[in-house]
Amino acid sequence: MTTDGDFAQHPADSEWHRRLTFGERPDGSWMTQGPAHAYESVVMRPLEPMFVPEKPRHGELDPQNCGSCAPSEHTIWADEHWQVRAGWETGGLPFIGAIAPREHWLLEDAPLEVMAALGPLMQRISEAVKTIPGVARCHFSRWNDGSAHLHLWAFARPAGMMQGRGAVLSYWDGMLPEMSEEMMNEYVGIVAQRLAAGGGEAFPHRAV
Ligand SMILES: [Zn+2]
Repeated sequence: MTTDGDFAQHPADSEWHRRLTFGERPDGSWMTQGPAHAYESVVMRPLEPMFVPEKPRHGELDPQNCGSCAPSEHTIWADEHWQVRAGWETGGLPFIGAIAPREHWLLEDAPLEVMAALGPLMQRISEAVKTIPGVARCHFSRWNDGSAHLHLWAFARPAGMMQGRGAVLSYWDGMLPEMSEEMMNEYVGIVAQRLAAGGGEAFPHRAV
């Protein structure tokens, strides 16, 4: 048993967990051999012990404090069920957006109506992101370890960037030369307007 503040936890125990040796440094060299060809060397931190129950995510215990539920100036598009947010800070990738239901749904409890609208929306977001000059593809991820509110990420993969293929693309945002704020806002605007052309509203919380 351990405590993190007043949060009581015990070691996670399963057949899978019992095979692990905590405190040892995993070999990260396989990451240098992946198709993305992005890493020359990788030194992993020692494997940390795993405890359960895990601490609640943002908005898990009290949806009243959920950031995804509150209006945001970074909402670049919204319709009846879904919203897209972007432009929090400049980075190296042409576009990163967060896709979330407008209401506080988790993947586990979102109504079929909301989930059914996600497929066509992903198609529209992909097409919108690819209209940014110099963008070849739009990648999506769904992690949901930080906030309980269902959300997916959309990442623009620059044209010709073979070192950005796959999951490593998200890390390149912090390593490529940072875009200017002007360029970021221009690209965010391209995506917002393209999405709104197919329905919904661009920048719903922005004063006109
Ligand atoms: Zn929420």
